[in-house]
Amino acid sequence: MTRGWSTTTCGQCGQLRPCHRKILEQWICQTCVLRFRRAPASCPGCGGLKVLAFYDAGRRPACADCTGHDPVYACPACGREDSPFGRHCGPCTLRQQLTELLTDPSGGIHPQLQPVFDALMAAPRPQTTLYWLTRASSRPDILRDMARGELEISHAAFETLPSSRAVDYVRDLLAALGVIPPYQLAVERIVPWLRELLADQPKANADLIDRFARWQLLRRLRLLAERDRVTRGGVQHAREAVLGATRFLHWLDEHDTTLATATQAQLDDYLVRHPGRGQSLKTFLDWTQRSGLSPQRAIPMPERALPQVTLSDQHRWQQVERLLHDDDIRLYVRIGGLFLLLFAQPLSRICRMRPEQITTEPGGAVSVTFDEVPIQLPDPLDRLVLDQLARRGQASYASRPDRWLFPGGLPGKHLVTENIRSQLVALGIQPSAARKAAMLDLAARMPVPILAELLGLSPNTATRWATLAARDWSQYAAMRRA
Ligand SMILES: [Zn+2]
Ligand SMILES: [Zn+2]
Ligand SMILES: [Zn+2]
Repeated sequence: MTRGWSTTTCGQCGQLRPCHRKILEQWICQTCVLRFRRAPASCPGCGGLKVLAFYDAGRRPACADCTGHDPVYACPACGREDSPFGRHCGPCTLRQQLTELLTDPSGGIHPQLQPVFDALMAAPRPQTTLYWLTRASSRPDILRDMARGELEISHAAFETLPSSRAVDYVRDLLAALGVIPPYQLAVERIVPWLRELLADQPKANADLIDRFARWQLLRRLRLLAERDRVTRGGVQHAREAVLGATRFLHWLDEHDTTLATATQAQLDDYLVRHPGRGQSLKTFLDWTQRSGLSPQRAIPMPERALPQVTLSDQHRWQQVERLLHDDDIRLYVRIGGLFLLLFAQPLSRICRMRPEQITTEPGGAVSVTFDEVPIQLPDPLDRLVLDQLARRGQASYASRPDRWLFPGGLPGKHLVTENIRSQLVALGIQPSAARKAAMLDLAARMPVPILAELLGLSPNTATRWATLAARDWSQYAAMRRA
C-alpha cells in the first residue's frame, strides 16, 4: 500500500501539497485523488468499470485487483469502484440511509413506504438522491416521521405542515407513487388561502363563504382532480367566485341588507356599479338559491360574441407542413402543435393526454381519441405520435412513465401548458388563433353533433362555431353566385 504524509509537488496539478497516495506511481494530492476517483474507466485486465490507478505488467493503467494491490478505491460493502460516495459507494450509502429513514418501529421498511424506497433506489444517480436526503430543507424528516408512525401517511397530515416547495415535493412524490391518493396542488392551495381570507371577515359571512367554498367549489374541483381534469382556469374561477362572494356580502352589509332580503333592483345596482363582477357572483348566487339561502334572482349575462378568426387557412396549412416535417423542432412541440392546428384541441387538454388515447389497430393504423370517437391519424403524424409513445419513458424517475403522453418534470405531473405554448409562439404559432382557425375549418366540414363528439366540445360551443362557419360559407357561396 502506498501511503505517506509528506508535502511534495503533486504529480497531477503540480502544486506543493500534502500528498498521501500514489496514482500511476506518482504522489498525488487529496483534491486530485478525489477527482481521479470520480473518473473510473474500463479496466484492460478485467473489463470492469474501475479506478485505473496502477500499471499492469504491460504498463497499461489497470485496477487494483488486476495488479495485485489493495482495493483502496472499492466500496468495502459491495466492491464496486464506479460510484464513490464517502467511505462506501453511492448505492450502498443510499440503501443504508433510506433504510434508516423509512424503517418503522418493528425494524423493517414501513410497508406503505416500500414504493418510496424502491423508486428512490431505482433513481439514475444515487448521489442526487443522497444530496436531497441530506439537506434538512428538503424535508426528508416528513418521511421519517411517517415511517415511525409519528405522522399519518395522508393528505390531512400534509395540511398540518407549513406549505413550502419542499413539502409539496414530498407530497407529490407520495401521490405519484400511489402511497396517498392523487391530488392537485393548485386545488389544495385554496384551503390555506381561504383560511387567511376569511380570518378578516365577519363571522356570519366567513361561515357562509366557507360552506360555499368547501361544499361547492372544492368538492367539484376534487372530483375533477381524481380524473386529472383540473385546469388552471378552473382553479382561478373558484378563487374568483370566493372573492366575488366576499365582496358582495360586504356590500350587502354596507347597505344594511342581506342575501335573503336584497331586491333584484339592489342586485342590478350592484352589478351596474361593479361591472365585470357578474360572472364570479353568479356561481355564488346559483348556490345560495339552490340551497334556499336567497330568493331567485336574475344576473344578466353579456351575450357571448361570435368568435373572431385571424389566421388564414393558407397560413395554417403552412404551419402544419412545418410541424410535420421539421426535425429540428422538439417532438412533443410538433405533436402538440399539430393536435392544436388540425383538431382544435386546447393546449391544456393536449398536455393532459394519456397514452390510452392513442390506439394502434392490427393493420397498423394509429388513432387518437380526444373525446369519444377515435380519429385516424394521417401519415406522418401517426409516426410522430408512436415515437413520442416510445420516448416518454425517459422522464424523471418519479413521473410514472405510463401515466401521461407528455410527462412533465415534476413527479407524476404532465407537461405544463406554458412549456409547449412558449415554444409554439417562438415558432410564430399563436395557439389561440391557431385553435380558432382549426375550429372554423372543422365546423365547416362536419355537422354540429359530430363536431361536438369528436372534439369533446360542449354542444353550445360547437353550435357557435358552426354558425360562424355557415356564415362564412354562405358568404362565400353568395360571392360565387355573383
Ligand atoms: Zn493535485
Ligand atoms: Zn481490473
Ligand atoms: Zn457498495
